[in-house]
Amino acid sequence: MEQKLIDLVRDIYATKKFIPLHAPSFTGNEKVYLNETIDSTFVSSVGKFVDQFEQEIAGYTCTGRAVATVNGTAALHTALYLADVKPGDLVLTQALTFVATCNALHHLGAKPVFIDIEHGSFSLCPVAAQNWLAENAKLNEQGLCIHNASGLAIKAILPMHTFGHPAQLDELLAVAQRWNLCLIEDAAESLGSWYKGKHTGTIGRFAALSFNGNKVITTGGGGMLLCREDSDAKRAKHVTTTAKLPHPYEFYHDEPGFNYRMPNLNAALGCAQLEQIGPILDSKRRIAERYQAFFTDTDFRFVQEPDYSRSNYWLNAVYCPSASARDRLLKVTNQQGVMTRPVWQLMHRLPMFANELCGDLSQSELAEAHLVNLPSSAIV
Ligand SMILES: *Cc1c(COP(=O)(O)O)cnc(C)c1O
Repeated sequence: MEQKLIDLVRDIYATKKFIPLHAPSFTGNEKVYLNETIDSTFVSSVGKFVDQFEQEIAGYTCTGRAVATVNGTAALHTALYLADVKPGDLVLTQALTFVATCNALHHLGAKPVFIDIEHGSFSLCPVAAQNWLAENAKLNEQGLCIHNASGLAIKAILPMHTFGHPAQLDELLAVAQRWNLCLIEDAAESLGSWYKGKHTGTIGRFAALSFNGNKVITTGGGGMLLCREDSDAKRAKHVTTTAKLPHPYEFYHDEPGFNYRMPNLNAALGCAQLEQIGPILDSKRRIAERYQAFFTDTDFRFVQEPDYSRSNYWLNAVYCPSASARDRLLKVTNQQGVMTRPVWQLMHRLPMFANELCGDLSQSELAEAHLVNLPSSAIV
């Protein structure tokens, strides 16, 4: 099995050299636009590419407004800040995620509550969230969601679209509405993924995208905050740009702000990359189809897009029949220069989140023991 898989991956990427998990490709106008920023001297926080990149992402995702940030973590931080998450508040999220999801709320002094995933998308399970809230929370007279045992406020629910596969957003939105929680989507991995015809990140009040080097398209480092409401987008732009009031020469800032604006240099790269997103997504889908065909009729289950969605197949994954099969797959492939990786360690095992509240995490634990990510770079 392992050897045949290695042969398949080498065939897909047509190389005998080391094959990374995910590498970017620059085959369009990247150098042209980057040179333009240098020639114009506008390499920093002001420049035409930042506005253009925001408008193009807003157009591509059909969202109200998009605000570019220095990275995805900064976009998440800003989303939680604007959702009024304060020190001591609780936020429901998943234990199976990249650490940035939890770091963002930690920076506000808030605490995660780890809820299980469902096995279709490997994203936050709306039934598990509803059950945990029904057992552990109530709405007070002001309509605030309160954790019974601690009296702390629960402010938001933060699902992550794992590997690009859209979470069950309608159901999560219903839970959010029922419990008066702000729905924030960690869509860092899901640019180009659609939920029932809508782009991921446009169902919640806020969403964060990432353009880190390993994501579907890259700006080197970068992120984007998507906002459903115009008023939220205005606030987002304001607080991410030092909360300066517009004036030709005076400095006046009307609240504590962040310096989270994406530099023009990075946005130029993003504009060029976004021009390539069609071929990138086509290639990723073809690669996923090769894996899918390979694992059919084996006891390994290739992770496919949920049937309500169209996924970007950002990071391909296979669910191994046992933990030992997973270990063998990881060992043999990595030994032979085909990079594979286990999924992230669950957040509640990390020292800084070890004492946080958890629901039942049995599905997350199964995923942790069985999943392997496979090489997924687009070929364009
Ligand atoms: C990549 C990623 C982020 C944010 O990443 P940045 O490196 O800060 O851009 C956040 N959440 C998840 C799940 C991610 O995969």
